[in-house]
Amino acid sequence: MLGPDRYVTRLADVPHEHLEELGFRGLIVDLDNTLMGFRQTELCVDHLAWCERAHERGFKMVMVSNNFTARVTGIANQLRIPCIPNALKPLPFGVMRAMKMLDLPRSQIAVVGDQLFTDVLSGKMCGLYTILTEPIEAKDFPITKVFRFFEKLMLPERPAP
Ligand SMILES: [Mg+2]
Repeated sequence: MLGPDRYVTRLADVPHEHLEELGFRGLIVDLDNTLMGFRQTELCVDHLAWCERAHERGFKMVMVSNNFTARVTGIANQLRIPCIPNALKPLPFGVMRAMKMLDLPRSQIAVVGDQLFTDVLSGKMCGLYTILTEPIEAKDFPITKVFRFFEKLMLPERPAP
């Protein structure tokens, strides 16, 4: 029940065509360590291009982040994606709000994030397809380190990038 539906090394490795084939039209995307490194201040070219291409192909997106800094809205504005900061994942409320904003059926929404116990779990609780990425950077909030420890225990089969 807990495992993601799919693993990828990073967001830019998720082909839009494949998401379309699976019927997805909406994406709920995490910020820290999914779109950009925890301490980075600028998006990498690949992820900028990936989001641009998603817009072009008509995907609806919402950024859902547990981070509370102005950085979240700044990056979301740069990407022209609405955002929900302070989401308190794994509580499902942020994802539920994002689903409402997307205004799409459950079967057409995928969640992408780097953490099993926040992104994947909150997506699963809402009955959504989940994609787990490798974290961009190792450094993260202290609580995240605790989650990572349990992730390693839960995911011994996680393939090496
Ligand atoms: Mg994250």
